[in-house]
Parts: sequence; structure tokens; C-alpha cells
Amino acid sequence: SLTAGIVGLPNVGKSTLFNAITQAGAESANYPFCTIDPNVGIVEVPDDRLQKLTELVKPKKTVPTAFEFTDIAGIVKGASKGEGLGNQFLSHIRQVDAICQVVRCFEDENITHVSGSVNPIDDIEVINLELILADLETVNKRLERVQKLVRQKDKEAMAEHEVLEKAKEALENETPVRALQFTEEQTKIVRGLHLLTSKPTLYVANVSEDEVANASNNEHVQAVRDFAEKEGAQVIVVCAKIESEIAELEGEEKEEFLQELGIEESGLDQLIKAAYNLLGLATYFTAGEQEVRAWTFKEGMTAPQAAGIIHSDFERGFIRAETVAYDDLLQAGKMSIAKEQGKVRLEGKEYIVKDGDVIHFRFNV
Ligand code: GDP
Repeated sequence: SLTAGIVGLPNVGKSTLFNAITQAGAESANYPFCTIDPNVGIVEVPDDRLQKLTELVKPKKTVPTAFEFTDIAGIVKGASKGEGLGNQFLSHIRQVDAICQVVRCFEDENITHVSGSVNPIDDIEVINLELILADLETVNKRLERVQKLVRQKDKEAMAEHEVLEKAKEALENETPVRALQFTEEQTKIVRGLHLLTSKPTLYVANVSEDEVANASNNEHVQAVRDFAEKEGAQVIVVCAKIESEIAELEGEEKEEFLQELGIEESGLDQLIKAAYNLLGLATYFTAGEQEVRAWTFKEGMTAPQAAGIIHSDFERGFIRAETVAYDDLLQAGKMSIAKEQGKVRLEGKEYIVKDGDVIHFRFNV
């Protein structure tokens, strides 16, 4: 399954944030497809629609969907000494599908900053530069290989060569490959290169307790936002310390605490949703009397593929997907009424599942 990796320099609050994740986190027993690994935290995806569907269908059980964060902490020590991040760190990053980079935006004289003072842009650049250098090595090696084929006018090699040159130029200007525009054809080639700077990335600005409600006043947060905008990346503001307290609460207690803090949604919940989108994940629902349940699928999946997430039998024996959009079902107020209104569609094998679809799969066993 897809995973988002959490990275950052030492003392920026990674461990604190990851602890909040595991505290809020789901028992892996409920999600047998998830990895059991101390560096992996399973989070349930907050989704208001699941609550609404539960009120509508009144099932015996409601099950949210989940996905994984991987902690890539503690391996970045060499970075501060200007040594490279080491192969282990890079190979861990290689294995994740998206990157959440934690940057320190809180001042605290008791907590040493690795480079002496709080400067989130410097921090980001230290890490990004390591990834850029690793990618440059990959690109240069690849260029050497295709060169000969290019001289022989090999079409595929020429297409790859063009992509490699474009990537190389960007990397040499310290621009991550994810900031570049490629054609659909080229995007496929880029994917095959497995470059670190082509992974979707977001920034997590870690602020102090008293700034979480109005983070816009924090000059460091503003600097991170300006930086991220240039590469089209999202910024999530959290206070890692408070997140671990929030993570212990549920329902009304959580609501009240958030109100006291003056925030609408916990930073962690925002981060979970943002990382989920970054990974290209979306949710469909099944809604029966026994169980209302959210399922994670990858955007672009067909109905049989999405069915296969529940059970491989569902994919193999797929006949049809009885589908209604969440909004249509909610408006109708009842499945039977949605049917009368013609809002329930019978979709076949080619159907591309959409976020929010409520689906009943029909299949042969
Ligand atoms: P890591 O090295 O990036 O994993 O950083 P840690 O999570 O261990 O945090 C380093 C120090 O910063 C610890 O003493 C944390 O308690 C502290 N810290 C982390 N987040 C916050 C925060 O939001 N506010 C404050 N004041 N301190 C924090």
C-alpha cells in the first residue's frame, strides 16, 4: 500500500509529530493490509461523509479507512556536518510514495537548532539539496547509457534523452523535478526514473503552542508558504506538542479542546487529509445494514480494481457496480428514493470510480 514518509532535520519535532500519529492511530489489527513496523503509523482518515452515511443507513458498525505514515527520522545526522544524508536515508525516501517535510517554525532557546538559529528555508534547502544531488547522479548515469542509442537514432532513447536533459538543467539550478511540467508521455518516463525530487511533497510547519491559532503572524510560517508556493506545494501548520494531546481525545472532548485553542480542525487531521490527496488516494463507500465502510482506492482505478480492494473474489467475479454519488444519496435521504430518482447507476468493467461513490458490487463466485 502507498505510504507518506515524514522527514526533517533533527530537533524540528518529527518524533513528537510521529508520536501523535501513532497515538491517534488505528490498531493494525483492524487493517490487516497495513504493515506492522515500528516506523509505520496507521492513521484513520477523518471523513464527515462517513458520519452522515451512518446516520442515514444506521448500520451495526462503521469503519473508517486508513493509510500509513512512515517515520524517516534520525538518519539525517550527517546533513548538519555538510556530509550527505547517507545511503540509508536516501533508500528510505526512495521507498515512500510522497514526502512530508517537517520544518521548525517554533522558537525555543532550550532546544538547540542544528544550524544555530531557526531558519526554515535553510532547513528545507539542506534536505532538498541532498535529494537534488542524488537525483543528479541518477540522471547523469542514465544519460551516459542512452547517449549511444541516441546516436543510433533510437526513438525511445531520444525521448528519454530529452526528459533527462530537462531534469538535469533543473537540478543543476537546484529546482526539484516535481516543479517541472512534462507531457503525458514524458511523465511516464519520469516515473520510470524513480527520482527523489519527483515525489509529491508537502511541508509541515511546526509552530509553538501559543501560535497555532494565528500562524499567519509567524514570519517563519510565511517564509515557508512563500517558498512552497514557488513549487506548487501545500503547507500544513501544526503544533506537534499539542497534536499529541489532541490525539488522545475523541468526539466532544476533542471539539471542546480545539475550540479552546481557537482552531477548527487539528493540524494532524489536516495533515492526514493533505497526505492522502498527495498520494493520489480517494475514498469510496459501501453502505449496508451490517456495516458502513470507507475504502481507499487510487484515483483512476476501474470498478473491478476498486472491488478488488475489498476482496480479490470481487475483482475476479465482477459483474456490475451499483453506484450512487454520495451527494445524490444524501439529497435523496434514502437509497430507495435515490433509486426512484434514477440516481443509482449500473456501472460496468470500464467505469472509473470517483471519490465519494457509494457502491454495491455484484459479482459471481
Ligand atoms: P526530532 O529530532 O525532529 O524528532 O524532534 P523531536 O520531536 O524530538 O523534538 C525536539 C524537541 O523539540 C523536543 O524537546 C520537543 O519537545 C520539542 N518540540 C517539538 N515540537 C514542539 C512544539 O511544537 N513546540 C515546542 N515548544 N517544542 C516542541
